[in-house]
Amino acid sequence: QEKINHLRNVNRISVTGSHVPKLILEFNELKTNYQVPENLLNNMKNSGYMYPTPIQMQAMPIMLEGRQILACAPTGSGKTAAFLLPIIHSLRGPQKKGFRAVILSPTRELAKQTYRECLRLSDGCDFRIHIISKVNQALTKYGPTSSQKFDILITTPKRLVFLLNQDPPAISLNNVEWLIVDEADKLFEEGIRGFREQLDEITRACVNANLRRGMFSATNTPAVSKWCRRNMKGLITVTVGQRNA
Ligand code: ADP
Ligand code: ADP
Ligand code: MG
Repeated sequence: QEKINHLRNVNRISVTGSHVPKLILEFNELKTNYQVPENLLNNMKNSGYMYPTPIQMQAMPIMLEGRQILACAPTGSGKTAAFLLPIIHSLRGPQKKGFRAVILSPTRELAKQTYRECLRLSDGCDFRIHIISKVNQALTKYGPTSSQKFDILITTPKRLVFLLNQDPPAISLNNVEWLIVDEADKLFEEGIRGFREQLDEITRACVNANLRRGMFSATNTPAVSKWCRRNMKGLITVTVGQRNA
């Protein structure tokens, strides 16, 4: 334990929460500790990822153990792969059960970047990954009968709420296991209460009892951490690069 604390300190990782999984220093540990298959490790290597960044060291094990997380780490520190790899592994291939992971991005541009990284990191897995681009198209595409073949959804929140609010809803989130809010600080500041309501609507549509949430953010804002402490059971927080408690 002392050694683990030391490794967190040198990597400027601070954690709160109970039974925080130990951090990894090399991607290979994902294979020994969490049975992450070789092809997923290769997908990271092929992206030029040789060693995990600090947020990846700690967030990957947390999510692979199925724990809910609030992660704060600077822009450019690899948060995208930190949540994508555990999701890709935990979904274990396409299942035709409809969307099982939803990633909310604040802008369409960021959604596209996340989509491209998801394609790279899941290469060879045959997942159906979708990004809501045109709402009109989506109305027919994700309907109750045709949406079963999809696995991962990446979208801005407004579009998703628009589809959920159709009568009948134009998309089903019944089988969602992971709901990720990327750039949570931006989403929470925009429109003050607007995003919180959208997130509530989206969460209500995720009726799976196994739903777990992850919030990823560049800054540690009080609004986000307060919301997480209130709403996320067994929460672990990970903060990289600052020394406040
Ligand atoms: P953030 O979301 O924290 O702002 P990104 O996930 O967008 O950061 O990653 C920033 C850049 O770092 C991207 O170009 C990404 O491909 C790269 N990157 C991510 N993880 C690693 C890693 N382990 N090693 C090297 N580069 C990485
Ligand atoms: P953008 O980046 O384009 O602003 P958003 O997801 O923030 O994407 O907002 C798009 C929203 O605009 C949709 O969720 C919906 O509320 C509205 N919208 C877009 N297209 C249509 C449409 N064809 N009919 C009705 N509303 C639409
Ligand atoms: Mg990011």
